[in-house]
Amino acid sequence: ALDTTEDAVESLRPRPPVVTIMGHVDHGKTSLLDALRGTDVVRGEAGGITQHIGAYQVTLKDKSKVTFLDTPGHEAFTQMRARGADVTDIVVLVVAADDGLMPQTIEAINHTKAAGKPMIVAINKIDKHDANAQRVRERLLEHDVQVEDMGGETQDVEVSALKKIGLDTLIEKIQLQAELLELTANPDRAAEGSVVEAKLDKGRGPVATVLVTRGTLKVGDVFVVGAESGKVRALVDDKGRQVKEAGPAMPVEVLGLSGVPQAGDLLQVVENEARAREVAEYRQSVLLQKRTTSAPA
Ligand code: GDP
Repeated sequence: ALDTTEDAVESLRPRPPVVTIMGHVDHGKTSLLDALRGTDVVRGEAGGITQHIGAYQVTLKDKSKVTFLDTPGHEAFTQMRARGADVTDIVVLVVAADDGLMPQTIEAINHTKAAGKPMIVAINKIDKHDANAQRVRERLLEHDVQVEDMGGETQDVEVSALKKIGLDTLIEKIQLQAELLELTANPDRAAEGSVVEAKLDKGRGPVATVLVTRGTLKVGDVFVVGAESGKVRALVDDKGRQVKEAGPAMPVEVLGLSGVPQAGDLLQVVENEARAREVAEYRQSVLLQKRTTSAPA
């Protein structure tokens, strides 16, 4: 059987938090993701090459790291959760200070609550003349989100993704929240991870962006992922650099797959290729059976 055992407490090490940004369309999710990417000290050194692989990691001045899922919108979050890939630790809810709470804001609040995730509210577009952060806080109260100013415990921060205001404070609040969660993983075991996105690349074949959840994924590792299998031919990080391995909470592109898996699929390293093919073939047959039985007569 696949190794699904719990890791011993002694094996656990601190790991970076994984953050998902949600909010109403046009409230600035993409802009904020881009602005936060700019806080990476390593990226600066690397010359600022941006690879959109579905997730990225920033290294902060104090050497700590934060991982962001770079797939704005609620679909990725709910889709991945529906497939059992509950990778998000913290949700940042973006609310435009001029627009206030909108239908998708409320949807995001509900998704976050249903998932039981801690939320940080980023009140964005604070640079606009018609920004009204206080009104946002008041309206949040109507949806049972009490920010600190209102006597509650939800952290909020005024930001401008455009003018790069408040980004450091937002990162600090993410770190504070992460500390409270005491996030850990065992880096010294066969790797497991979740597919964030996958595609068929013209030159490189099937490519999956995987967020490692425990263990360390290495070049040469044999794995199953959903109904596919493979052997890691190369690992590419979010700066487009080839890396030899990826530990917990690190997103990497994985090359060497037999086919294109689905977002939310679990990747598991197994002992050998025969075993990988066996598990993948079994899953293929189950999938096929499902399709046949659910097909209209
Ligand atoms: P998304 O749909 O939530 O991803 O929103 P976008 O990031 O695409 O932003 C929508 C629009 O709002 C774009 O025209 C952005 O330039 C603008 N925008 C985003 N953040 C800010 C901000 O802090 N201030 C101002 N004035 N405009 C912003």
